[in-house]
Amino acid sequence: MYRRLIAALTLFSLSASPAVTAEPSEALLREAAELRDLALAESDAWRHAASLSTEVGPRLAGSSGDRAAVAWALAYLDGFGFDTVIPQTVTVPAWERGEAELRITAPWPQPLVGVSLGLTIGTPADGIEAPVVRFESLAALEAATSAMVRGHIVFIDEKMERTRDGSGYSAAVAKRSRGPSVASERGAVATVIRSVGTSSERFAYTGTTRFAEGVRPIPAFALAAPDADMLARQVATGRDVLLHLYSTARQLPPARSANIIADIQGATHPEEIVILGAHLDSWDLSTGAQDNATGVAIVLEVARLIAARERAPARTVRVVLYANEEAGLDGSRAYTAAALEAGLRHVIGLEADAGAGRVYALNSGVGEEALPVVEAMRGVLAPLGIAGGDNATRGGADLSTLRDAGMPLLRLEHDMSTYFDVHHTVNDTLDKVDPETLRHAVAAYAAVTWIAANVEEDFGAYPETVPPVDPAASGN
Ligand SMILES: [Zn+2]
Repeated sequence: MYRRLIAALTLFSLSASPAVTAEPSEALLREAAELRDLALAESDAWRHAASLSTEVGPRLAGSSGDRAAVAWALAYLDGFGFDTVIPQTVTVPAWERGEAELRITAPWPQPLVGVSLGLTIGTPADGIEAPVVRFESLAALEAATSAMVRGHIVFIDEKMERTRDGSGYSAAVAKRSRGPSVASERGAVATVIRSVGTSSERFAYTGTTRFAEGVRPIPAFALAAPDADMLARQVATGRDVLLHLYSTARQLPPARSANIIADIQGATHPEEIVILGAHLDSWDLSTGAQDNATGVAIVLEVARLIAARERAPARTVRVVLYANEEAGLDGSRAYTAAALEAGLRHVIGLEADAGAGRVYALNSGVGEEALPVVEAMRGVLAPLGIAGGDNATRGGADLSTLRDAGMPLLRLEHDMSTYFDVHHTVNDTLDKVDPETLRHAVAAYAAVTWIAANVEEDFGAYPETVPPVDPAASGN
């Protein structure tokens, strides 16, 4: 209340506003450094991640868990110091995984550990049995003729590389998002892929797959890495390998979900929005601790710290907890459509959806004129051991729709070396999250957000020079 009064007074006394500056002033950078140090010492994003993953757990779009997550957010955000918290209704597809059973029936019968890919159809009640044809990559499948594929179960055995920046995922995920469609086009009856992930443990990774327009959907599954290895060894003997696949996965009628839009009103430029995005939904297989309870926790903790400061930021700091990032980006599209229609001005965006690994760099996608501001941010991050970055980030999935409308981006790069050991699996649980590393991340996000929300400088438009990527290969 007190802070809101200050904000109102500031509106009528612009000259007295202490920190609206032409470029990052020493005073603003000092404030950002103070916030950084406070966050490093006292922030507690871990407890928000613990609350969401413990009290809600799995929250696949359209499920009862998803509705529980929306209710959780609306109740939980009370007391964070937001001026407004508004749900935006979003219609999402609903899908039920059901049961799945995969086994090799010949030449050497063995059960396989696997999961249905998200949004896929099930098999007939007695399953599908067919010979396997293996491709070492999506590219090899794309080069194959229908004669090789027709009537077969296609096995895409492409491996994923472990990388710090997550580029291994961007490269490998196309086999999941497009592989089953490519197989169906060539007459396959089903698809199994080696899981898109880096763990060699015996569990499989889910995630969406999309069938191109006019292509008949077929059942599609991911195998745990050791099971993909075993299937590959049987195929390598040259004997005919038969697979039996069974799944009761099915689409349900579309359901209601919501984006949660929470604002700390700007004191002097309330119409200029600095947006912090994180998706609230998760896959159904786990508690979604790193995908994405920790992202939600980081942006909420940053907002809590900013709301607790004695003066409000010059610009509005808006947290958006997005609906259904994982299975279709519906929340992102709904938010951006409404924002464009209302003519809202998003000055810059920052997204948290890359796990809870240690932050090591600040990348940007801003106009040339704003590069000195980004460099000043890097100066404040340097004591955290965060160094360097480029101006070519594509950002995360949820902010991609605003980016495509020209909004510039900042992106704090998390070390993703071990993220894909758990991402989209039963193993994405809170014990893998280190509270200290999360405090370090909050310190970085808070410092960057405070500068973005107070510097007079504009961030320009998202640069058109950043090379586009295959949309099917982007993060979800
Ligand atoms: Zn995610």
